[in-house]
Amino acid sequence: SDVGPQKDRVVSEEEWLRKWETGNIGFHKEQGHPLFQKYLHVLLHGRSGLRIFFPLCGKAVEMKWLADMGHSVVGVEVSEQALKEFFTEHSLPYSEELVPDIPGAKMFQSTCGRISLYCCSIYHLSSSIVGKFDGVWDRGALVAVNPSDRQRYVSLMVTLMEENSSYLLVTVSYDPNKHKGPPFYVPESEIKSLFG
Ligand code: SAH
Repeated sequence: SDVGPQKDRVVSEEEWLRKWETGNIGFHKEQGHPLFQKYLHVLLHGRSGLRIFFPLCGKAVEMKWLADMGHSVVGVEVSEQALKEFFTEHSLPYSEELVPDIPGAKMFQSTCGRISLYCCSIYHLSSSIVGKFDGVWDRGALVAVNPSDRQRYVSLMVTLMEENSSYLLVTVSYDPNKHKGPPFYVPESEIKSLFG
């Protein structure tokens, strides 16, 4: 598969922030992603009280759903606007605090305590800050990461996973000569080599 055309493409943090400011967020799914419902059982394996990680979370509604089921959700997102919209749109009261270990980062936490959303670049997180997770919902995350950062992203994700965690990954398949992305095309062979 030909990934050449996208491999040097870079979308800056500022560009992502601008997408949120201008409402250019066609990726957001108000009704959630259909594959979430379909594969939720694979993520949970009948377990309760899990810690689930949402990399590059935006204002994904699935975070609310998992919290309502009694799980703990941690997300990370560069746009503060996205995180505030998440809490406001679900009428969830929240508190805001600085993250001592990450200069400039904030953490927004629902008053119920089950949803903690970090406002910073994912590359500033580590397991010593956020702990490890029983499950990951990766939709619009690996495919949104700049192609040259993919290995760094995946290596970090692996360090955030508990021994028996499940990782649900949603990708998109299309001809990378026809669209510049994001979402980027990540071929299956690359996914295999990235995660090992
Ligand atoms: N996963 C969400 C959002 C997908 S769009 C969903 O399913 O709706 C990708 C999101 O990643 C955008 O909201 C963007 O602001 C955010 N983002 C981009 N680069 C990031 C980074 N390095 N760290 C954290 N968030 C980032």
